[in-house]
Amino acid sequence: MARAWLALGANMGDAKKNIEQGISLLSKNEQIKIIKQSKIIISKAWGNINQADFHNSVIEVETELAPFPLLKICQKIENNMGRIRKEKWGARIIDIDIIAYENLEINTKELTIPHPFAHERDFVIDLLKEIAPQTALWIKEKAKMSSSL
Ligand code: AMP
Repeated sequence: MARAWLALGANMGDAKKNIEQGISLLSKNEQIKIIKQSKIIISKAWGNINQADFHNSVIEVETELAPFPLLKICQKIENNMGRIRKEKWGARIIDIDIIAYENLEINTKELTIPHPFAHERDFVIDLLKEIAPQTALWIKEKAKMSSSL
């Protein structure tokens, strides 16, 4: 069993409900157990700022899935919920990102862990601090180290 931390974001339709539905669909997967959930907060859109505010939440899961299969499940849930990929950082019904997986570091085009933008988005780190302070600290440290290289 491994621990992983996922960030959910939404800014279309009933965004809060979408986050809750995303979490509920993740919990229905037999290989994923939700351990903790942060509060749901509202944040300003990031990247492409000309769009509705986002609702965001971070969860801690216990999973038998390796990182890539876990990513596939997250993407399947996004697709099942009707997510259409139009533009980078555009409006979305649901977005599920892997923020961290144990203390693994993966650097491929398909999957980068810790998530490359996690440390730049204060709300992700703040939500992570709420449920997993050690992981939040580890991500901050990693980012500091790689920026000083
Ligand atoms: P987005 O449109 O922001 O959800 O980005 C999705 C793309 O980011 C997908 O093609 C993923 O393969 C890639 N990706 C890279 N690292 C991660 C990660 N840690 N979590 C989720 N998606 C990732």
